[in-house]
Amino acid sequence: MARYVFITGGVVSSLGKGLASAALGALLQARGFTVRLRKLDPYLNVDPGTMSPFEHGEVFVTDDGAETDLDLGHYERFTGVAARKTDSVSSGRIYSNVLEKERKGLYLGKTIQVVPHVTNEIKDFLAIGDDEVDFMLCEIGGTVGDIEGLPFFEAIRQFSQDRPRGQCIFVHLTLLPYISASGELKTKPTQHSVKELRSIGIAPDVLLLRSEHPIPVKEREKIALFCNVRRDAVVAAPDLKTIYEAPLAYHREGLDQAVLDAFGISPAPKPNLDRWEDVMDRLVNAEGEVKVAIVGKYTQLEDAYKSIAEALTHGGMANRVRVRAEWVDSEIFEREDPAPWLEGFHAICVPGGFGERGTEGMIRAAQFARERKIPYLGICLGMQMAVIEASRNLAGVANAGSEEFDHEAGVKRFEPVVYHLKEWVQGNHRVERKVTDDKGGTMRLGAYTAMLAEGSNVARVYGSAAIEERHRHRYEVDIRYRDKLEGCGLWFSGMSPDGRLPEIVEVKDHPWFIGVQFHPELKSKPFAPHPLFADFVRAALEISRLV
Ligand code: GLN
Repeated sequence: MARYVFITGGVVSSLGKGLASAALGALLQARGFTVRLRKLDPYLNVDPGTMSPFEHGEVFVTDDGAETDLDLGHYERFTGVAARKTDSVSSGRIYSNVLEKERKGLYLGKTIQVVPHVTNEIKDFLAIGDDEVDFMLCEIGGTVGDIEGLPFFEAIRQFSQDRPRGQCIFVHLTLLPYISASGELKTKPTQHSVKELRSIGIAPDVLLLRSEHPIPVKEREKIALFCNVRRDAVVAAPDLKTIYEAPLAYHREGLDQAVLDAFGISPAPKPNLDRWEDVMDRLVNAEGEVKVAIVGKYTQLEDAYKSIAEALTHGGMANRVRVRAEWVDSEIFEREDPAPWLEGFHAICVPGGFGERGTEGMIRAAQFARERKIPYLGICLGMQMAVIEASRNLAGVANAGSEEFDHEAGVKRFEPVVYHLKEWVQGNHRVERKVTDDKGGTMRLGAYTAMLAEGSNVARVYGSAAIEERHRHRYEVDIRYRDKLEGCGLWFSGMSPDGRLPEIVEVKDHPWFIGVQFHPELKSKPFAPHPLFADFVRAALEISRLV
């Protein structure tokens, strides 16, 4: 049976609970334990799939097709453990399950209440797969005291009582604000936050304290005393230069030791931190810099393309070079020539997105990259736009476009080179969709196989003839344009196993121009950079040496 670590937050949000959880997972792995990480989100959306990236940042997709919180991306990047559908849940999902059971009459006439019905549903979720790993790390979204979060806090309290003594611990992350006028770190907000936690029956075992400044011994002792935790369990979480420093930094501060002590695991197995030392070496000792433009729509919020930013960093680490990614709003190119904007970059990436806004600008960015022979990586929408660009400017389909935009406009303006996919094969079964389907959870989601053409650039990059990557899209490049486009040099070099769905296109007479219908960024890790990003950065590096 797994031991459970519950990670909660207090004082303010955005303290990096997801990162702390991920780093703790990595540290427990470094000591030889197996881990799984989970996120419990108090919001009422059933999943983040329908939320705008401006609201909630990127939607992270799992192999088994769940649309989840971006923290699951951190978990995967730090532990390498592929997240599953059962690693992410929201209040919305919990309530929807409870109401479904109620409608089916499964509660046998009982009055449905938060305790026990909602809390039981949460506890059942927590228990899934508890015989598979040594440690289950469960992060509760939001901060203690949030109205929506209460059932989750109540459920983890009960869960720890249901389990044998010593099987569950609580780690609470808070902030020590620094008051510059008096030059002091303030402990009072942390004391209040712990008090709040204790008032709902949870006594933290470990306190992880974010602060801009080193925490003096006196303050640590005060916190230990007033918050009723052991002195060694008051752990500093200092500000870091890069997120990948977290495992080494938190280890130095004693986080993993404090957690193992709280479980009474003694003697604790020695950690092997070679992986993280190598990661830091590649980051800190990188030589030179390549500049990559990310031309997209959600450029105001960096979290909207979190995994892409990270995957580019990993690509840089593979080449021991720094990657400077700059976000360029594609709408600019609908008014202005892209050349002055893009000329200084060594590579261009057009990421995924939804809706028509900004797409004409993406098409122009793809054209610029193709004509100027600048490395281009088109991801999902970025591939679709590259295909539309080639259709218009190479294959003579002047009004080539995507059905996605016509659906929005309600009139037919484009010849649909990219169409609304309504039927496809997943493993052994056929999936069907209608235009009138719900928006949530109905895209082509999760891992699918693609077969790579012999002699193609992608086959070289992957070093393999078959790959598996994660998808999240409703529209698809129409295979009927294949011959026409291939005749103009746009090779359909990756296809679904049944040969019906174009998964990858590449421009033949170009140093590096690849569009992929899937999201390779979701599978990249600092210690295992994704081959597409590693090679994209390598190609950018070559360009940078030419100029
Ligand atoms: N909007 C496009 C589609 O649904 C692309 C989606 C994406 O980029 N993730 O097919």
